[in-house]
Amino acid sequence: MTKKEKVLIIKEYFDSEYADATCSLDYKDPFQLLVATQLAAQCTDARVNMVTPSLFAKFPTVKAFAEADMTEMEMAIKSTGFYHNKARNLIACAQKLLSDFGGVVPQTMEELLSLPGVGRKTANLLLGDIFGQPAIVVDTHAKRITNRLGLTKNEDPTKIEMDLRKIIPLEAGSDFCHKLVYHGRALCTARGPKCGLCGLQNVCDYYKKNK
Ligand code: SF4
Repeated sequence: MTKKEKVLIIKEYFDSEYADATCSLDYKDPFQLLVATQLAAQCTDARVNMVTPSLFAKFPTVKAFAEADMTEMEMAIKSTGFYHNKARNLIACAQKLLSDFGGVVPQTMEELLSLPGVGRKTANLLLGDIFGQPAIVVDTHAKRITNRLGLTKNEDPTKIEMDLRKIIPLEAGSDFCHKLVYHGRALCTARGPKCGLCGLQNVCDYYKKNK
């Protein structure tokens, strides 16, 4: 079986098991998703969703972020961890959005990557969920599960993304990655996968090695 054929079987299973999978970060516009995704680094989406309502009430616009006092920003996001770096990047990101992009979140990978604090994971999430472009979001769940399934042998997220871009139908990439997250939370957990409950045993390298 080729990897492309394997992906189609996995996709069919995901589509039946996790039909409603979406991004679990709360946001109302592209800038809010840009901020929330940066806050989600080394933090749970649930924690980020607890922080962002008051954060966006305090700093309601890109301009407000760009002009924010560093200490006030740090205090507003402290519980998401790594708050010194995150606050510095959020303020710098908003300043660059104003200076280079008219305060509007850009729609290309290259432009998104030019923003402070924005890596490929964040850029792909924006491209896929906001702008409807082909995107592969490699987070910790995607990394773990695609290795277990045998879709990649790489550990580096960028290399995994490039591997997946070759085998996942591009228009389905963003949705597929959201479903990987759901599968990672439901069954294919980091601590120990619940393979007995999983419908992917026949296409899973990890299962075949460890059954
Ligand atoms: S069979 Fe086990 S390791 Fe493979 S995808 Fe399912 S839960 Fe994960």
